[in-house]
Amino acid sequence: MTDRTFLIVGGGLAAAEAAKTLRAEGYDDRLVLVTDEARPPYERPPLTKAYLRGEAAADTLLAQPVSFYEDARIDLRVGARATALDLAQRRVRLSDGATIAFDGLVIATGARAIRPAIDGAGRPNVHLVRTAGDADRLRDAARHAGTAVVAGGGWIAAEAAASLAQLGLAVTLVVPGEEVLERHLGREIGGRFSRLHEAHGMRVVRRSRVEAVTARGVRRSAGGVRLAGGDHLDADLVVLGFGAAPVTELGAAAGLEVARGIVADERLETAAPGVFVAGDVADAWHPRYGVRLRSEHWDNARRQGRTAAKNLLGRSEAYDRVPYFFSDQFELGMELVGRPTDDADVAIRETGTGYVALWLRDRHAVAAMHADTWDARKPMTALVESGAVVDRRAFEDASVPLDAVGAMAVAPAG
Ligand SMILES: Cc1cc2nc3c(=O)[nH]c(=O)nc-3n(C[C@H](O)[C@H](O)[C@H](O)COP(=O)(O)OP(=O)(O)OC[C@H]3O[C@@H](n4cnc5c(N)ncnc54)[C@H](O)[C@@H]3O)c2cc1C
Repeated sequence: MTDRTFLIVGGGLAAAEAAKTLRAEGYDDRLVLVTDEARPPYERPPLTKAYLRGEAAADTLLAQPVSFYEDARIDLRVGARATALDLAQRRVRLSDGATIAFDGLVIATGARAIRPAIDGAGRPNVHLVRTAGDADRLRDAARHAGTAVVAGGGWIAAEAAASLAQLGLAVTLVVPGEEVLERHLGREIGGRFSRLHEAHGMRVVRRSRVEAVTARGVRRSAGGVRLAGGDHLDADLVVLGFGAAPVTELGAAAGLEVARGIVADERLETAAPGVFVAGDVADAWHPRYGVRLRSEHWDNARRQGRTAAKNLLGRSEAYDRVPYFFSDQFELGMELVGRPTDDADVAIRETGTGYVALWLRDRHAVAAMHADTWDARKPMTALVESGAVVDRRAFEDASVPLDAVGAMAVAPAG
């Protein structure tokens, strides 16, 4: 036993997984986890889904039970912000005045929701959704509201809009493109999501941007939004889903390189030896794609937390996972693997319960998504991981088993 200190900064899934993995891998020395939120590390996906709708209690969000930290001898500091990182002295200063010297560090500071610089974005009853507190405020506001405008073309907007509609509000979703989620899934699959939302009574306003949040009443609370063309949409509450920005300032002020996030190699180590990144804040070299990637995905946070912990212990594990994402909207559940790109062709297989979409570039599978077809996950992941050449017609033919379509395209003719 030595007297090392490993420090983890962050209160999300990446931080929790790093802590858990260090102990599981036999690290027995001092372990400190610092989060500026008021609760132990927790998971965010339910914040726009079951938790927002009041169907899941707050403790179900926790990445680990509260007792875990004590049982695992983790010095958990909640409500403490890491304010300065000194790489030369290898120590971190906290907002409560404490200083922690470390031998190894994981920066898992995640991302924060972007409040756009549009008129009225700071009015009462304008909501962003990133933290449990944000979801609590939105749920409370929804209780007293009849109508909502949700602006944004991404996952947070689509999920929050669906949940508000499920809570009984009349919801208008304003998207910048032709379709809901078009930027992530392309026009064809995005169109299916637009129709899903419309089938549940929501209004989707396409090719539109919110230019301002207008005011109502003496509190000058949100009363609706003005669109770029001048139209006004009335609403009792407004949700802005304008994306998230990585929380890089701790690393940046210390001199770590920042690009789309804090820059790291494929082992998730920054240019400072022993200083690792994980999760939404990490802009790490991805050997599979030959580029640096920053992902805002639950699975990425979980697995990068594990990899960072192992490498902190001296392993040399490259993070080369194919991206995985999931979402629930209304009754639809979906999973996505890989990276859909604009230059790929999309093939679709109707499955009876839903569908499977495959993105093909030069006939190679680069991404796949299923909607309500849970047994597709394994074969579609295998197709994307192997980058298989796929016969489009075989893929679209639901009578051909999904795990056979890759092999068919490469089988010799005749
Ligand atoms: C509403 C919502 C719904 C989502 N739904 C899905 C989904 O359905 N599927 C999916 O795959 N992904 C989803 N995601 C994405 C997923 O939740 C994120 O990728 C994941 O939370 C990233 O985890 P993280 O630990 O890297 O960062 P975060 O979860 O952002 O945690 C970072 C933590 O560090 C704290 N922190 C920051 N700076 C400091 C500091 N200086 N000192 C101390 N603490 C600090 C922050 O306050 C925060 O608690 C969703 C995200 C949101 C916001």
